[in-house]
Amino acid sequence: MVTLFEKENHKNIMYDDLTVGEMVQANQHLVIDGDEAMLLDPGGHKVYTNLLSQMSLQMTPAKLKYIFLSHQDPDILAATNGWLMITDATAYLSSLWMRFIPHFGIDDYVIKRIEAIPDEGMNLELNGKELKLIPAHFLHSAGNFQVYDTTAKILYSGDLGASLGQDYNRVENFADHVQYMEDFHKRYIPSAKALKIWVKIARKLDIEIIAPQHGAVFPNRALVEKFIDWVDTLDCGLDLMADSFVVQ
Ligand code: FE
Repeated sequence: MVTLFEKENHKNIMYDDLTVGEMVQANQHLVIDGDEAMLLDPGGHKVYTNLLSQMSLQMTPAKLKYIFLSHQDPDILAATNGWLMITDATAYLSSLWMRFIPHFGIDDYVIKRIEAIPDEGMNLELNGKELKLIPAHFLHSAGNFQVYDTTAKILYSGDLGASLGQDYNRVENFADHVQYMEDFHKRYIPSAKALKIWVKIARKLDIEIIAPQHGAVFPNRALVEKFIDWVDTLDCGLDLMADSFVVQ
């Protein structure tokens, strides 16, 4: 667990050590302001129990106000039914995935508490503080959002900025860190056009920290800047793909 920001009533916590075994390492993020909170990308069933007990040290989980689901992958939302059953929270998910999430077993009496995020995004209030749900489509999912916390100035970037295999949770040396991000971005992000659309948005935000859903955070403005510059020039996805596959 890492506290990314703490000032007055506002606290941003990253749980980076709750995934186990063969599952891809994933971070779960909690934003608390006063007695309201948002949980981001809570993940699947094996994480659920640990996350619940960890969260209980910070707040009463039943009082959770929002669950943010950046996209449709299992490491994001497989345990959504459980979270909706034990909390009063409203979950937010791209309108594209609303008819897919029931396949994870969402009970009828909680499904009405999943709200569709329109393509252009929306703003939510957490104890009077603004959380912006920012469009980040095709990074990597077709219906994909990030959260910008205007108080902590943290951008929760979801799979963008994901890193795998390093043994630290805060980036220090950007050049050295690229090796842990490169393969993931080149294959999972479909097009550089999507990256460039994001860069335009990111450069207008006042960002202190970028916190991805996998791996290490970019913990200061200098590293945030370097990351955005890297994204701006990255070749990925279809652009790198051969015109045809050799069928075995
Ligand atoms: Fe994903």
